[in-house]
This record gives sequence, structure tokens and C-alpha cells, in this order.
Amino acid sequence: MRCTRTVVCAAAVLLGFVTSRAAAQRIFGGAALDTSAVTRLIVLGSGTPVPDPERAGPAYAVTYGTRVFLFDAGAGVMRRVAAAGLPIDGMTAVLLTHLHSDHTLGLPDVILTTWVMGRSRVMPVIGPPGTRAMVGHLQAAWIEDVVVRTEGSERGRVGGQRVDVRETTGGVVYDSAGIRIRAIPVPHGSWPVAFAFRVDTPDRSIVLGGDTAPSAALEEAARGVDLLVHEVYDSRRVAPEQRPGGEMWPQYLREFHTSDEELGAIAARAKPKQLILSHVLRMGGTMDEVIAGVRRGGFSGTVVVAKDLDRF
Ligand SMILES: [Zn+2]
Ligand SMILES: [Zn+2]
Repeated sequence: MRCTRTVVCAAAVLLGFVTSRAAAQRIFGGAALDTSAVTRLIVLGSGTPVPDPERAGPAYAVTYGTRVFLFDAGAGVMRRVAAAGLPIDGMTAVLLTHLHSDHTLGLPDVILTTWVMGRSRVMPVIGPPGTRAMVGHLQAAWIEDVVVRTEGSERGRVGGQRVDVRETTGGVVYDSAGIRIRAIPVPHGSWPVAFAFRVDTPDRSIVLGGDTAPSAALEEAARGVDLLVHEVYDSRRVAPEQRPGGEMWPQYLREFHTSDEELGAIAARAKPKQLILSHVLRMGGTMDEVIAGVRRGGFSGTVVVAKDLDRF
């Protein structure tokens, strides 16, 4: 095919040959991966189940040197990975806070796209019980794709789509060369197991809250951390919804999530250096309203509302 326009050329290159981070950066203009010994938190998706075009589904990357840890895999995750200039051919590990669909819709994207983009090793996928079954079903769902890509003229690497599932119920899930990651069980309504993660690197401490109702364990883990990323809902917008079962909405929020005032109180006690609000259930309210709720709860420190591709 003769390329006459930049965009067509880029598409042709992408479809045929893109397997490297450098190529992805050329095409997408994403920032380069900072491979220095500085820890970065990159917000890949700050959204909720609502398909907001500005906010991909929940996903965060923590990078240190050449290592990239992906936390959750919401819808749109690999597009954001590329936009952030992160490797599109695999992560050091993928970690799941829980198996709610908004946090896992991008998991087949992560598993299969990294393979198609040249993944050369079996990537660990760490999550709660149920992760193995979910990954098994996903692999089965795309089996015809795998057969065509490996047995057809694409010559895809046989077995390259495999991942190493490691189910856990909490505790240290990664500890190597200065980076330690701990899964902290948190209450998330009727989910039997859901996690927050604490990441310690040589230069930073980060707690990623996942989805959680107020949690003493999370609060303890977040004491004095550099960054606390936490979900939140607008306490003043809580009302029954006009749908069958909608009368349960306030109870659902209380059992599964954390209000702005509750988060303010947690942060006031834990004293993170920076509180990052993400996965915000505004329910028609504004971000300023949510921040005001956090202030009412008692936190007077730095509060930031996460946007996709923000770096901390
Ligand atoms: Zn969620
Ligand atoms: Zn959830």
C-alpha cells in the first residue's frame, strides 16, 4: 500500500509492524517511559462504570526504572498505556483490586494486545480468588483468534498469550530489587475479597485504594504515605434511584464505597502527603462539591482530582 497521508501511513505501520515502545511513541506521541530511578504514578483510567469519554475505566501504572506495574484494567486500558508512552508489549505484573467489570473489562485487552504487540514472556496476573477462572474464560473466549494468529500467516508466537495467574487473599505479592507490593483486604460490599495495594519503592510510598467502604486496614496502610489514591462518592447526592431496585442505592453506596466526608476523616487521620480522588461517583454533582465534602470530613492537606494521563 502506498501511503499518501500521515494518518494512513501510521495506520498501516500499526496494523503490520508495531511491536516496540519507540514505534508506539512515534505514532501516538506519548511521553517516553521515564527509566530513571524515580517512582511515577500514572493515571491511565480515572473513571467509573459510566462510559465517560474523558475517563477510561480504572487503571493505574506505577513505574520505577524499567519496571511497570499495572493496577486494574478498566475499559480502554491499552489505549491509555500507549498514550502514556508505556510498553505495549507487556508489564512487569498486572494486579487486580477485585473482579468488578469496570476494573477488569480491559483485562483481555492487556492479555491479548501485549501478545499481539510482541510480548515475549509469561506475564504475572495477581488478583483475588476468581482471577484464575476469569482469565481461563477470557482465554477460551478468544481461542479462535489465537488459532488464526498462530496458525495463519501472521505467525503469532505460539503460547504468547499465556499469563501466570497468582491468586491471593492478601499479604506481600511482590518483593524484588527494592520494590515491595502488599495486597490489603478491604470491605467492598458483598465481594468476598477485594484489595487496596500499598507500593513501597526506594523513593516513594503509594496506596491505591481500589473500591472500598471505609477501611481501618487501608487507613493504617496509608499512614504518612506520599500518595493515597482513593475512590469517593458525593454524600449530598445520595438518594434512591428511579429504577427497579433503585431504593437500595443509598445502602449499596454505604456498603461498597466511601463518601467524601468519610474519606476526609480517614485522610485527616492517615495524613497522606497527597490525596488523589479517582473513581469519583458524582451523581450529578461537581468535583468541587466532592472536595468540599472531603474538607467537611476534616482533611486540610493537598487534594487532587485525578484525570487520565496525570503523572504524580
Ligand atoms: Zn469500581
Ligand atoms: Zn467495585
